[in-house]
Amino acid sequence: MTKKYPVFDGHNDTLLRLFEKEDGQTQSFFQGGEKGHIDLPRARAGGFAGGFFAVFVPNPREEQDAEVDDFPGTKSSAKGGGFAYEMSMPAPLDFGYATRTVMGMVRLLYAIEADSQGEVTIVRAAEELERAIDDGVLAAVLHFEGAEAIDTDLNALHVYYAAGLRSLGIVWSRHNAFGYGVPFKYPAGPDIGPGLTDAGKRLVTECNTLGIMVDLSHLNEAGFWDVAARTSAPLVATHSNAHALCASPRNLTDKQLDAVAESNGVVGLNYHVGFLRADGRSDQETSLSEIVRHAVYMADRIGVDHLALGSDFDGAKMPADLKDAAGLPRLTAALLDAGFSDDDLMKITHQNWIRVLRQTWR
Ligand code: ZN
Repeated sequence: MTKKYPVFDGHNDTLLRLFEKEDGQTQSFFQGGEKGHIDLPRARAGGFAGGFFAVFVPNPREEQDAEVDDFPGTKSSAKGGGFAYEMSMPAPLDFGYATRTVMGMVRLLYAIEADSQGEVTIVRAAEELERAIDDGVLAAVLHFEGAEAIDTDLNALHVYYAAGLRSLGIVWSRHNAFGYGVPFKYPAGPDIGPGLTDAGKRLVTECNTLGIMVDLSHLNEAGFWDVAARTSAPLVATHSNAHALCASPRNLTDKQLDAVAESNGVVGLNYHVGFLRADGRSDQETSLSEIVRHAVYMADRIGVDHLALGSDFDGAKMPADLKDAAGLPRLTAALLDAGFSDDDLMKITHQNWIRVLRQTWR
């Protein structure tokens, strides 16, 4: 019998899936099925105890290109046997459009909580998160992936905090008033573009003051160091891997990994096959051992206290033998087989996240 660890997870796009593809209905989340990666039955089956539920604003429909692979606007090529791709950078979002979309997705998360009959709770404090995990109630943290719905006076930041926002990624890949993101491109490093704008620097300080976690995944390297220089909280990348093993700019260089560890922060391992594989290919026929390879590398480099999980469920392509949230016991079993102890697994699956959030939230 495989042990089921309670997995608190760094990143999912389940709200986007339900909002865009299923007209904002909560029923499919509770009933479950084969679509996507997370719903309540599959969460229960796999020990998915909760996580950061991302509010991500997609491009307006008229601007969405025909999709190649799973990234819009991607051009791939194979020159001399080597594989490469580059996605065209989407245009910055209009504040009004972003705000309308964010409102719809936040409302959807509230609806999931309200319709769940006590099975889902939106957590706003570390004690609430711990209690939810102990009680087997699915714990959702409201996270924004990109700050496009926040004005540069930061008034909206305060309003969203009052509405439960506890985690903010300054950018997705497109740039905004606060900073610059990394493109979807392979092979490439994250040192692309300028650092945070003045508004971005004020945003980091205000997040510290309020107790909102700042997420470094998707931020370019200059922005990463700007956050590191001024934040009072541990550094966190919710869904990124090791650049040394897969040369995607979405992954962290050794120097960035070291900085996360020095701050007592955490990196959530991303299961997207294109951010795992050494060849960067978005190929579903990818072994679970690719996730293990990144886990071992990071544990050796920065220690198991700084390693966590950040699936990217419902927003990326999963290895076939993981499949979805119900497959999590196969991943934890593979980590045990690779030499991680039971104590290590407790840290990686939820305890490290609780520690970091206790230090970050107030
Ligand atoms: Zn993401």
